[in-house]
Amino acid sequence: MSKIGFIGLGIMGKPMSKNLLKAGYELVVYDIIKEPVEEVVAAGAEAAGSPREVAERCDKIITMLPNSPHVKEVALGKNGIIEGARPGAILIDMSSIDPMVSREVAAELGKKGVRMLDAPVSGGEPKAIDGTLSIMVGGRQEDFDACYNILKAMGASVVRVGDIGAGNVTKLANQIIVALNIAAMSEALVLATKAGVDPELVYQAIRGGLAGSTVLDAKAPLVMAGQFKPGFRINLHIKDLANALAASHQVGVPLPLTSVTMEILQALKVDGLGDADHGAIIRFYEKLAQIEVRKKG
Ligand code: NAD
Repeated sequence: MSKIGFIGLGIMGKPMSKNLLKAGYELVVYDIIKEPVEEVVAAGAEAAGSPREVAERCDKIITMLPNSPHVKEVALGKNGIIEGARPGAILIDMSSIDPMVSREVAAELGKKGVRMLDAPVSGGEPKAIDGTLSIMVGGRQEDFDACYNILKAMGASVVRVGDIGAGNVTKLANQIIVALNIAAMSEALVLATKAGVDPELVYQAIRGGLAGSTVLDAKAPLVMAGQFKPGFRINLHIKDLANALAASHQVGVPLPLTSVTMEILQALKVDGLGDADHGAIIRFYEKLAQIEVRKKG
């Protein structure tokens, strides 16, 4: 079994790389921060000094980085993957980035015979730790098949959704639906509360009907408890909606509701809530209406 490269050992990458070690894979890891590298090396990985060196030593290289510029830099920049990778190597980029950038990076790597999958995840840190992420993959079927077992060591569900970029398009669709659902829930619960109706009873009354959703069940109880610890940070959701708006404009799709929700998130960031959970969208509506949605008693 050849070694696997892993670049980007943050909140998500660190537990994901440890799950690969647990599954018996040999890893070569790199991050610009020393501490997580030392931790994953202590768990059994080897360290490399650059993305280039990772690519020289591995035929499958995973990246789990913050956003598009980081992926471009690590894949195509000085001392990047492109300088070290052999033809036939596969980059599996698991970061959530602009799908147009996934296609650009894949095209550049392709000139050297290096292949690429975009494989963003949903599930957050707890599922990264448990190895039960949902992984949505774009790229060629044969590359997907060649990487399936590796991805399965980190995820409960691994689905190929199309060619390169399709994974990130799917992730952006997911992020639009989640953000807009939280905003709709917030408007509704603020209305109910200011109109004098207990929001907990409103939630219980409607959750089994058409307005019920996974988002409502996940976020309404937290909001009513005044619990805004992340979870998924407002700042990360801003990044994802910025990517959604950029990609949508490139393909000629206006996203009116996404752009309004983006401005709500921007207002919350200015208000100091960038590191709060995205359930804090309700704080924007609470301020407008001068009321707080909290469970009674
Ligand atoms: P993070 O900021 O915790 O980790 C990113 C890591 O990349 C850091 O350790 C950083 O040092 C490293 N890095 C940055 N630039 C680098 C470079 N040039 N070379 C090497 N390493 C570099 O982020 P995260 O929360 O782990 O998220 C990673 C990706 O996963 C993001 O795209 C995010 O949107 C996505 N995601 C996050 C969550 C979540 O709940 N945190 C859930 C789903 C998806």
